[in-house]
Amino acid sequence: MSFNVTLLPGDGIGAEIIASAKSIIEKISDIFNIKINFTQELFGGCSYDKYGTPLTDEVIQLCKNSDAVLLGAVGGYKWDTLEHSKKPEAGLLKLRSELELFTNIRPAKVYDELLDASSLKNEILRGTDFIVLRELTGGIYFGRPRGFDDVSGYNTMIYTKAEVEQIARKAFTIARGRKKKVTNVDKANVLEVSQFWRKIVAEVHKDFQDVELQNMYVDNAAMQIVRDPKQFDVILTGNLFGDILSDISGIITGSLGMLPSASVGDKYSLYEPIHGSAPDIAGQNKANPLATISSVAMMFDITFDRKDISDVIENSIKETLAEGYRTADIFSEGSKLVSTNEMTKQILNNLTI
Ligand code: NAD
Repeated sequence: MSFNVTLLPGDGIGAEIIASAKSIIEKISDIFNIKINFTQELFGGCSYDKYGTPLTDEVIQLCKNSDAVLLGAVGGYKWDTLEHSKKPEAGLLKLRSELELFTNIRPAKVYDELLDASSLKNEILRGTDFIVLRELTGGIYFGRPRGFDDVSGYNTMIYTKAEVEQIARKAFTIARGRKKKVTNVDKANVLEVSQFWRKIVAEVHKDFQDVELQNMYVDNAAMQIVRDPKQFDVILTGNLFGDILSDISGIITGSLGMLPSASVGDKYSLYEPIHGSAPDIAGQNKANPLATISSVAMMFDITFDRKDISDVIENSIKETLAEGYRTADIFSEGSKLVSTNEMTKQILNNLTI
């Protein structure tokens, strides 16, 4: 068994968390006798500094030739004033679009060991396990016309029937393997694009009658996620609403540093933590590597079809947390404060069959 993985650390804490994730993959490849070939490239602000663009054609091609892409994070104050197309974040949107990664899967699962790291009450959190399924290559982030002039700024929120159908189908299929409930989140009380979205979701649902479909407005959904997160199984939503709701889900796991994600299309897949480049702690060996390591677990499950390996990685995370090791973002009284490197070492120690 052999796989090609492209590593794109990006900017800020990207280098630290990808180095951590790489060491986990290397140990897994030893334990399970799987050959993993790595190629590492510049992406985001560091690519702009060297090549004048956040994403080169060579990197796009490299990603297309890989079995999976593992990404850190991009962006930082230094590049905030660049024109839109040169910004690191524009490179990220372009990469998702080039690889046709129309589905973003973001699990929000509570580790019992981290109940105290969240600002929500234990009894509200315990047992929470849902995923946010966010449409990733359409909607207002890509719609045209877009721009601003001296008197106004504008973007366009647009979805085609085909785009809604493919993400809805994915949501119902995933829900079938879980608790069989899809909550469709939109703003159909105000936006025509949401009314259209909701109509197509209902049409697709006819093929999935064994799965419950519930509709919810996005403002209510934001409130419900913090009020009673256990009610959710699969949240199906568009690009903009998914972006916001998945960050709110960060409160469930205690920190953005705990949330992994998978972005998949029909041909390619990309894995990344949902957090950004955290410039405030970059280069300080403080970043929580667990979201990236969990993303590696998702990579083994979804792209490499090795749920057994994914479980080994997840169990190691659980065991390490149970032993009390915490990076600063999830630290609470009585636990052991560790750096990125020390946390990685503990996860490596606990990686056993
Ligand atoms: P951020 O996620 O980088 O940071 C928000 C807060 O969470 C910070 O206090 C940070 O220190 C903390 N944090 C984030 N990840 C952490 C981790 N692994 N361990 C410990 N603490 C962590 O969001 P931001 O500050 O709004 O954005 C910073 C830059 O990242 C911006 O340029 C933004 O555009 C970019 N960004 C990139 C991505 C991406 O690459 N996918 C996503 C979001 C933001």
